[in-house]
Amino acid sequence: MFKKILIANRGEIACRVIRTAEKLGIATVAVYSDADRDALHVKMADEAVHIGPAPSSQSYIVIDRILDAIRKTGADAVHPGYGFLSENAHFAEALKAERVAFIGPPPVAIEAMGDKITSKKIAAAAGVSTVPGHMGLIETAEEAARIAHAIGYPVMIKASAGGGGKGMRIAWNDAEAREGFQSSKNEAKSSFGDDRIFIEKFITQPRHIEIQVLGDQHGNIVYLGERECSIQRRNQKVIEEAPSPFLDATTRKAMGEQAVALAKAVGYHSAGTVEFIVDGEKNFYFLEMNTRLQVEHPVTELITGLDLVEEMIRVAAGERLSFGQDDVRLDGWAIESRLYAEDPYRNFLPSIGRLTRYRPPAEGRQPDGTVLRNDTGVFEGGEISMYYDPMIAKLCSWAPDRAGAIEAMGRALDDFEVEGIGHNLPFLSAVMDQQRFRAGRLTTAYIAEEFPDGFSGVAASEDQARLLAAVATFIYLALARRGAQVSGALANHPRAIGADWVASLAGHEFALRVAQDEERIAIAFADGKNLSVASDWLPGASHAVFEVEGHRLGVKTTLAGSGIRLRWRGIDATAFVRSPRVAELARLMPVKLPPDTSRMLLCPMPGVLTSLAVQEGDTVEAGQALATVEAMKMENVLRAERRGTVRRVAAQAGASLAVDELIMEFE
Ligand code: ADP
Ligand code: ADP
Ligand code: MG
Repeated sequence: MFKKILIANRGEIACRVIRTAEKLGIATVAVYSDADRDALHVKMADEAVHIGPAPSSQSYIVIDRILDAIRKTGADAVHPGYGFLSENAHFAEALKAERVAFIGPPPVAIEAMGDKITSKKIAAAAGVSTVPGHMGLIETAEEAARIAHAIGYPVMIKASAGGGGKGMRIAWNDAEAREGFQSSKNEAKSSFGDDRIFIEKFITQPRHIEIQVLGDQHGNIVYLGERECSIQRRNQKVIEEAPSPFLDATTRKAMGEQAVALAKAVGYHSAGTVEFIVDGEKNFYFLEMNTRLQVEHPVTELITGLDLVEEMIRVAAGERLSFGQDDVRLDGWAIESRLYAEDPYRNFLPSIGRLTRYRPPAEGRQPDGTVLRNDTGVFEGGEISMYYDPMIAKLCSWAPDRAGAIEAMGRALDDFEVEGIGHNLPFLSAVMDQQRFRAGRLTTAYIAEEFPDGFSGVAASEDQARLLAAVATFIYLALARRGAQVSGALANHPRAIGADWVASLAGHEFALRVAQDEERIAIAFADGKNLSVASDWLPGASHAVFEVEGHRLGVKTTLAGSGIRLRWRGIDATAFVRSPRVAELARLMPVKLPPDTSRMLLCPMPGVLTSLAVQEGDTVEAGQALATVEAMKMENVLRAERRGTVRRVAAQAGASLAVDELIMEFE
């Protein structure tokens, strides 16, 4: 077995690998860039080596820097995590030359599967079902349109070197095929330094279902069931689960066996993932093989009881798999939510800054028998920088069945406190509560279809508003009691607290009467309903559990002026509890309107304005490209929302812009 493993990665995956190495009694080495001096993975490892400036192109993906760190520390094996050098065959070769073990597949398998065109050809030859399309390279936009037309629209235009959802466009007609070809090519060039493009049929109503494979160096390969990763935005996964609610045992076996056949065809060992796109009739087609540990591997671990990193380490050290296909058991259901530093209210654009608060829920087995797991690389007070993936944490839940896992996830999200940056937690909560998600009717268009106008928070239903009104009343009275005690102590007789109140939030208003004792209040609503509330909430608490008539509500609470801001299940509402007289007056107050920004093009994310497509005086049509902003290695084309004339261009091409900075104004 290895003595010392260097982890050529950062963030949550570096931390996750270190944990397993520690469990196996293996020493660990972290590497870090300037931006990661204080990072969690550096603190967790036994040793740490600085490898250069913040941009990964000058640190984490420079092979020589990693080799230096290996020589300096005497590590005898390297785990590459995911991303960075994990699928770089040159890196795996370089390690071989140094006689250091690569905890991953053989370089030839990485090479063969790293290219989407090559891998598709190998898959087809191995008897794996592949997406119909053109298996050659495409040189010009005209050729792209011709081939797309021949395949039949819609088509998917893809970069052969692609990954992470980049360099990929759907086209529904010739014009889109030409435009998509060009933007895929540009994005592929800037992201991968390789602009080779191909085209395949776009599978409609698609589900993304992938098979986890695991093999040793002695020819044994097994599949560990599937993960469904259909909840995606920008072709990137946000919520994953295992197993898939769509597969039956026969399809699972067929997909598993094809995945194993492909792995065998390239002499695979270690952990790997074969991705399929599955249509509404359960026809499945090979998409690509990821020759590394996958971000969403925890859901597989939760239902198989295996530690995939441990298996990878053992296999790399030459051990045989300790079990065969027949020993693999799938038990229960697991869901993963990727908590991203991205603003769901702004089309999921990346957000950066300091985590002023970071309090995940407790991990491990819960009193009700469910299991929570949270993989992370951040800590309270830490910074989410613009240099790397904006993932904050991967929160996983496990329960005997899917409904239980969803319920456990909903609760865990309610109890997860993250402040200081924009993040998608309310969005994840919203999905957990959607009927369609609960019914398992998923496709990769789920987010686009369920949130056609983007996400603007969850509107509280009457029942939810009533629960929150009860919570707000509890808090208000706790504050009033404290106020009465303080002034009562001064005046030597406690000030009486009234019994009649009006609680209002999110457009709902409830007249109510309260009876209270020490820990519990009983609320009688004017419409005849009753709720009793108990909680350990204390003034200053940012989160507390409220037990409302047998429901357990984990609510984030903030006192905001005379209001009480409550966040729960994706709802973000400020509640007011007033005496009937004050409530009547409050109804007469004018409502403040936000400023009108509809005539301005604002920069939606921090980034570089790479180009302007129009100038002052131009008339633009709805949908016309106005400018391109590059942020986090992604090209974002900003388009006109409606017809108009450009009155003024305020920003220059090449400028670095802050979020909401003015780019241009319309007449
Ligand atoms: P990446 O390397 O970026 O992960 P993939 O080929 O795995 O690229 O595709 C990413 C996602 O794009 C898939 O999960 C799926 O949602 C969508 N996708 C890719 N190819 C197709 C296709 N031919 N038809 C429909 N959707 C597709
Ligand atoms: P601990 O109390 O040490 O955290 P748990 O039993 O809560 O142990 O869970 C440890 C790990 O075991 C979990 O992270 C999960 O991967 C796995 N696990 C727990 N329960 C199950 C189960 N019923 N089926 C499969 N895996 C499980
Ligand atoms: Mg993929």
